[in-house]
Amino acid sequence: MDLYEHQGKELFARHGIPVPRGIVAESPEAARAATETLGGASVVKVQVQVGGRGKGGGIVLADTPDEAETAAARMLSEPFKGHPVTRVLVEERVQISRELYAAITLDRSTGTDLAMVASEGGVDIEELARTRPEALRRLHVDPEIGLRPYHLRGLTNLLPGEARDLVGEILAGLYDVLAQEDATLVEVNPLVLLEDGRVLALDAKVTIDDNALFRQPEIEMLKSVFPIDPVEFRAREAGLQYVKLDGEVGIIGNGAGLVMSTLDVVQQAGVGAANFLDVGGGASAEAMATSLEVILSDPNVKSVLVNIFGGITRCDLVAEGVLEALQRVEPRVRIVVRLDGTNAEEGRRILEEAGHPKIVPAATMLEAAQRAAELAKAGAA
Ligand code: GDP
Ligand code: MN
Repeated sequence: MDLYEHQGKELFARHGIPVPRGIVAESPEAARAATETLGGASVVKVQVQVGGRGKGGGIVLADTPDEAETAAARMLSEPFKGHPVTRVLVEERVQISRELYAAITLDRSTGTDLAMVASEGGVDIEELARTRPEALRRLHVDPEIGLRPYHLRGLTNLLPGEARDLVGEILAGLYDVLAQEDATLVEVNPLVLLEDGRVLALDAKVTIDDNALFRQPEIEMLKSVFPIDPVEFRAREAGLQYVKLDGEVGIIGNGAGLVMSTLDVVQQAGVGAANFLDVGGGASAEAMATSLEVILSDPNVKSVLVNIFGGITRCDLVAEGVLEALQRVEPRVRIVVRLDGTNAEEGRRILEEAGHPKIVPAATMLEAAQRAAELAKAGAA
């Protein structure tokens, strides 16, 4: 689970990491009022879980409450890089003398946490590691020992002298967040040294381990302010597992394993999946109808692939579900259906007899994926 910047900063503050004073605003008027509270100037930052806000117009330095209101009005009126925006963070303006970088992340290749500090901030850290490795310091943290003062000195001694101790304290705070809140990533890009000598976390990226949410109820509650994707909401209401992706083929399958392999086969056919939906073990006609409605309501979908392997699920009922769904929703796109397993022949016969112009039967999974990919490419063109 990724936190929003303002949530990450609240968590940082609770662990003693200094952050700019900030107020969350859900309306242009609130952004104006917040700017007045902060002394008449502010930074207005769009709250989305995607990077590159600085370059993309998602961060505005406002010199007056008026400017903050105008910036917030624009940000709140349109999605940012496809992500819905319901809030902006209005922060005090600070005088930056230098931008730095600090992060701790789980390094899966070693199974330990990796602390990183860079003497440059606001930059792409992977790029920096490639081009100027001497500007970056890395240390794997032994979980039995943690981050001790000598580790912190080693990590920070490439920074300007006046920033070292303060960044060391911030790293210790970040390690607290990681360990106590079950985070797998805490990243501050940029961490800034101010002209008055303070060091502040100007940005916050925090990822919490989903497997630990059961013991982090306060963090799970932060989800309540996440904007709800209406399609995802409908799927959840109907008890279906739905995941949104950014390709063009909508995928419906039964069982996680089959759905995953369907994703792979579609990918191999040269097109990405727009989303996928697992109708689960007992795919009823009703569940199939709702699934198709959900998948088709995603405007990115250019073709649909229904891939069902009948076990307990009976393919004849799935076929009836598909036909029922097509009475409820007028499909914009073609639907490739591959049925195999229990009552598959019966299912195929039902579809054939119906002769629906939008249904494209396919005999094998590979053929089905290729047909769906072709149709998506044709539809996208
Ligand atoms: P990101 O691009 O989405 O990662 O957004 P960041 O929160 O990292 O901000 C991007 C850039 O905006 C920073 O690197 C700063 O240069 C600038 N910025 C953000 N807040 C302030 C501020 O209070 N004062 C000034 N002068 N610049 C800021
Ligand atoms: Mn950043």
